[in-house]
Amino acid sequence: MLVAMEKCPHCRALYRGEAECYRCGFDFRYTRMCEAESNFNYQEAIRCLAGGDDVRALHFVKEACYYHNHEQNVRLKAFIRLKNLYNGKEEKKDGQTV
Ligand SMILES: [Zn+2]
Repeated sequence: MLVAMEKCPHCRALYRGEAECYRCGFDFRYTRMCEAESNFNYQEAIRCLAGGDDVRALHFVKEACYYHNHEQNVRLKAFIRLKNLYNGKEEKKDGQTV
């Protein structure tokens, strides 16, 4: 599980679990939804990686990065790309792995 949001993305005030930022009123609803979607895709990537489906794992980790470009997602993506490269699977420019 990734680390949850710690600060308001708008004003950097400490996130205390409220629906809106206590300082600037920023609505955290969509940020929380993106975090949840990123976590789901990260977990699916791990599941596919454990099952040996590296191509689907790469797809899910790319989705995870799209929703939250967290360092943990980026590191997992780099690992899967390296593993695919080692196994002779090339990633084309359009993102498809062959
Ligand atoms: Zn704020």
